[in-house]
Amino acid sequence: MPDTRRQVVSDMDAQVEIRKTPIGRLDELPRSRLMSSETPLESMANLAQQLGPAHLLVKRDDQTGLAFGGNKVRQLEYYIGEAEAEGADTILITGAVQSNFVRLAAAAARTKGMDCHIQLEDRVPKNDPIYRSSGNVLIDKILGATLHAYPHGEDETGADANLAKIAQGLEAEGKSPYIIHLAAGHAPLGALGYVDAARELVAQCAMANIDLNEVVLASGSGHTHGGMLFGLKALGHTARVTGVCVRRDAKQQFERISTRCKEIADLLEMDLVVDEEDIILTDAYLAPGYGRLNDDVISAMRMAAESEGLITDPVYTAKAMCGFLERARAAEEGQTILFVHTGGTPALFGYERELTAAFDASA
Ligand SMILES: *Cc1c(COP(=O)(O)O)cnc(C)c1O
Repeated sequence: MPDTRRQVVSDMDAQVEIRKTPIGRLDELPRSRLMSSETPLESMANLAQQLGPAHLLVKRDDQTGLAFGGNKVRQLEYYIGEAEAEGADTILITGAVQSNFVRLAAAAARTKGMDCHIQLEDRVPKNDPIYRSSGNVLIDKILGATLHAYPHGEDETGADANLAKIAQGLEAEGKSPYIIHLAAGHAPLGALGYVDAARELVAQCAMANIDLNEVVLASGSGHTHGGMLFGLKALGHTARVTGVCVRRDAKQQFERISTRCKEIADLLEMDLVVDEEDIILTDAYLAPGYGRLNDDVISAMRMAAESEGLITDPVYTAKAMCGFLERARAAEEGQTILFVHTGGTPALFGYERELTAAFDASA
C-alpha cells in the first residue's frame, strides 16, 4: 500500500513553500484583505467526458466571497490597500452599466467603512430598462453607492477626466477620494491580485499532484490575464495561458497585455518574465462586441450549466467558456486544462430578456 499520508505531508510542504515564494515586491505593496480563503479548484469530469480525453478543471473565482464574488475582489485588495494607505474615505470608479467591478468596489468600500461613487458608461447599445436597473445596478443601489451617468462607452480618457472632476468636487467638500484607474498608463495594481492568484493556483496544483498544461480566461482590462501570465512565468511554471477577448480584437488586446506585463514588471521591480510568444489570444467569440450575445455564448452557457451546474455570464465567462471548450476539444490525452471562472453572475439578470428569449428558442 502506498504511504499516502507521507505523500500528503510532503505535498503540504510544497504548497506552503510555493505560497511563500516571493515574486518581486508583491508582498511589500499595500494590500487590504477582502477574501477570507482560497477559491476552490474543482474537476469538470462530466464536461470532459463529452469533449475529449483531457482533464478539465475550474478555478472558482466566482466564489471570492464578497457581494456575489468575482475576479475583481482579488484586484480590489491592492487598490483598497493603496486607498487605505493614503487615508482615503471615498472610492471612485467607472465602468459599464452592468459592471461587476463597480459593484464589488462599492461592496469593498463598505467593508472598510468608506463611501463609493460609481460612474456608469453607456458602453453597450441597449435600451432595455431591465439592463439599466437590474443585476449589478440593483446591487450598486442596495450598497448605497452614489451613481453618475457617463454618456459614452469607448472614451476611456473622457470617462477618467469626468471621474477626476467628481473627485475634485468631493475634495472641495472635505472628502478624501481615491480613484481606481483602469485605463492603460496607470499602475496595474489589480493585476497584482492575479499574480498572487497564480501562486495560489500553483500551490493548489502541487497539493493535488496536478500537472497543469493550460489556463483559459477572459481578457478584458488585462489585469486578470496579464497578472496570471506574469505570476505563472515568475514562478517558472510552463502552463500556456489563453486569453479570450471580450472587449477588443486580438491585435489591440495583444498590445494591451504586452503593456500590462511591462507595467507589472516595473511595479514589482522585476525583469520582464513574459515573452511576446507567451501572449496568446483568441477573438473568435467577441462578435458582435462587448457585452453582446452570440449563438456560441448561448450554447456554451447551456453546456456548462447542463453538464456541471456551472453558471456563466453573457459578458465575460460564457465567452471565455467558448474558448475553453475549443481548447478542450483540441486537447490530447493526459493534458490538464483549467478554466478560470471570473464571476459576473449578477449580470445575468440585466440580460434577462435576451437570455430568456434565447433559452426558450433553443430549448
Ligand atoms: C472584469 C471581468 C473580467 C475581465 O477581467 P479583466 O481583469 O478586466 O481582464 C472577466 N470576468 C468577469 C466576470 C469580470 O467582471
